[in-house]
Amino acid sequence: MENKIPTFSDLKREVIDAGLCTLCGGCTSFCRENKLHAIDIKEGLPDYINEESCLECGICYMICPVTDELNDKLEELYGKGIGKILEIYSARSTDENILKVCCDGGVATSLLNYLLDIHYIDGALVVKRMKGGRSMPILATSYHELLACAGASLATVPNLDEIRHYSTYTSLLPELKEIAYGGMENVALTGTPCQTKTVRKMQAVNILPSGSIRFVIGLFCIENFSFDAISLNKFEEIIGGRLSDIERVNIKEKMIIKFKDGSKKEIALEDLESVARKACIKCKIPFSNIYADISLGGLGSEEGYTTVVIRTPEGKRLFEEALEEGHIEIHPEWNEEKKEEVINKIKEWTEKKERRK
Ligand SMILES: Cc1cc2nc3c(=O)[nH]c(=O)nc-3n(C[C@H](O)[C@H](O)[C@H](O)COP(=O)(O)OP(=O)(O)OC[C@H]3O[C@@H](n4cnc5c(N)ncnc54)[C@H](O)[C@@H]3O)c2cc1C
Repeated sequence: MENKIPTFSDLKREVIDAGLCTLCGGCTSFCRENKLHAIDIKEGLPDYINEESCLECGICYMICPVTDELNDKLEELYGKGIGKILEIYSARSTDENILKVCCDGGVATSLLNYLLDIHYIDGALVVKRMKGGRSMPILATSYHELLACAGASLATVPNLDEIRHYSTYTSLLPELKEIAYGGMENVALTGTPCQTKTVRKMQAVNILPSGSIRFVIGLFCIENFSFDAISLNKFEEIIGGRLSDIERVNIKEKMIIKFKDGSKKEIALEDLESVARKACIKCKIPFSNIYADISLGGLGSEEGYTTVVIRTPEGKRLFEEALEEGHIEIHPEWNEEKKEEVINKIKEWTEKKERRK
């Protein structure tokens, strides 16, 4: 029997129609950037827009973070489970402006700013919150742009139903086109595990413009939340407040919501099951973002600090330089015992995610 390579029709059946698509945007950006225009986002999900143009190259299937293609190669490079850990810290930025707007300790923004400062990168692919509560990926090329993208919140996302849709997730990879068109050769990316896994798969098979991604900052991720205007009441009931009163949202062991009046509410993730993204609650991609040069999360650090997992020699060198140059500082009470505790927490959350059906 002929051994046919899996193509978009297989991706549609096995991943998209099965409710497993993470919406990272890798498959459609590859198709668009290579001027094939066979698939794009249609009614919120990847679909054929011109099936006749499909070359059946199978690359969309191969780079999808949900399929098993290239997993052996990635495991060889980045490990599995909690991944390769060269060092682990709890740290924060030393920049007052960053500390005012960041998610945890502002390490992501400070490291990106340092990479721009030393011209190691020309830009960083990050997420900006726009007026009207929308969020979108941008290529930040200055300190001020990075500052405007620090932190995270619940943002509205485009939805063809004309119904407002809210999510903690932002599709990042479609913005790769800016790298391709702008001719940038050295870019850093911040992303959730599904996004960084797609980029590493692209790099493993040399797909443009993934070669321009010089540095990857991975964010831990257990799941994301998403709901439409119709489910808004339910969400507001769970959080005990109005969406319009939320200033910032942070996900650690619980969802932590900071309201504009300064009050704070912590909600158990189990209580938010009805608004969790369906693809996320089935996602088994390693929680602590093993595909990054440096992975960051709030889990394991006290408020105002970021947990920093250094995974590659390049990540180690740049973190140590940023530390030496005074851009970041390690928690004054950080020690071997705390390190062990944090590694155990990461193991626990990794296993929790792996056990999902
Ligand atoms: C969707 C999402 C889910 C997360 N889930 C967990 C979790 O379950 N447990 C945990 O411990 N930590 C989680 N994190 C990580 C945590 O919230 C912080 O982002 C991380 O600790 C870095 O904090 P910081 O203060 O150093 O980052 P900051 O200095 O505030 O910078 C954060 C950077 O991330 C970028 N960013 C924001 N939103 C997104 C997005 N949707 N996609 C890609 N980049 C984005 C920002 O633009 C900014 O550049 C999650 C983050 C995100 C974005």
